[in-house]
Amino acid sequence: RRTALAAERSLPCETLDRHTVVLRANIATAADAEAALRSGADGVGLLRTELPFLEAASWPTEAQHAATLVPVLRRLEGRPVTVRTLDYADDKLPPFLADGTAGQRIGRGLPLMLARPEAFAEQFRAILTSGAGADVRILIPMVATVDELLACRAILRAAATSLGVAPPPLGAMVELPEAVAVADDLARESAFLSIGSNDLTCQLLGLDRRDPAATPALTAHPVVLRAIRDVIEAAHRHHRQVSVCGDAAAHPLVTPLLVGLGCDILSAAPAALDEVRARIRRLDAETCARAARDALDATTVDEVWRIVERRCSPTL
Ligand code: PEP
Ligand code: MG
Repeated sequence: RRTALAAERSLPCETLDRHTVVLRANIATAADAEAALRSGADGVGLLRTELPFLEAASWPTEAQHAATLVPVLRRLEGRPVTVRTLDYADDKLPPFLADGTAGQRIGRGLPLMLARPEAFAEQFRAILTSGAGADVRILIPMVATVDELLACRAILRAAATSLGVAPPPLGAMVELPEAVAVADDLARESAFLSIGSNDLTCQLLGLDRRDPAATPALTAHPVVLRAIRDVIEAAHRHHRQVSVCGDAAAHPLVTPLLVGLGCDILSAAPAALDEVRARIRRLDAETCARAARDALDATTVDEVWRIVERRCSPTL
């Protein structure tokens, strides 16, 4: 079955009624980048940059960022690559941000990094100098307010000016309820939006990220779907593309709903892409849109799962 799905890599990722969905990969390493290209990804929808620095003793320097970025970006020449800035959080906490207290919480890493604009500038400069050849755009994780996005943009612009290059497109991740509430303003000030369904689902349903109940299928919860609908509508009002880059993008009970809600780009682990593409090629976008409308009106996640199972679950 895996080989049969892989045979569709060269075929367009479009529904039976010719609605195109762009498929990109979530990656962290050069090996992931190669896997992404092999699996027929159009590019990278999420490059997680904090993973090589989870044991860091201090904020990574420009040279350290460049050393990890260059081998990845070199393999992705000519492709869109969405580089996310460091996303330290309680489940990704390097020693220099932990004071050694068990159970200590830092909450979001973004305010910590904005308090150290030079740490941000080091990473921006590394992205700007390592990205030659790839079609780089920059994504800010855990944005809560428009002010945060504007502060990031100011640091990026200064870094670009100091290097004599044009700043790449800058986008915000929408993965906090605060960001959903200001999605229209974020869309206006961003070049694109990316929905982080892993965090957004937990945040909206009051679950800890490490809770075993926090599964990708839960993104089908009507409360989460309504938030995703609002974000997609805000992005499209401002003619911005919107992607979903959490694990739910590849979940059989969620992919059809994201297609039905009009999500432009789905980004998933390279190993999941064959199946996502095959599923999309067997879906009807109009049917997905009708199922999504009913899912938005549902009360429980079980109801939504039954809607998807009954109406848009092609056998692969
Ligand atoms: C997300 O939150 O959905 C996401 C893609 O980011 P991460 O899993 O790295 O938090
Ligand atoms: Mg996240």
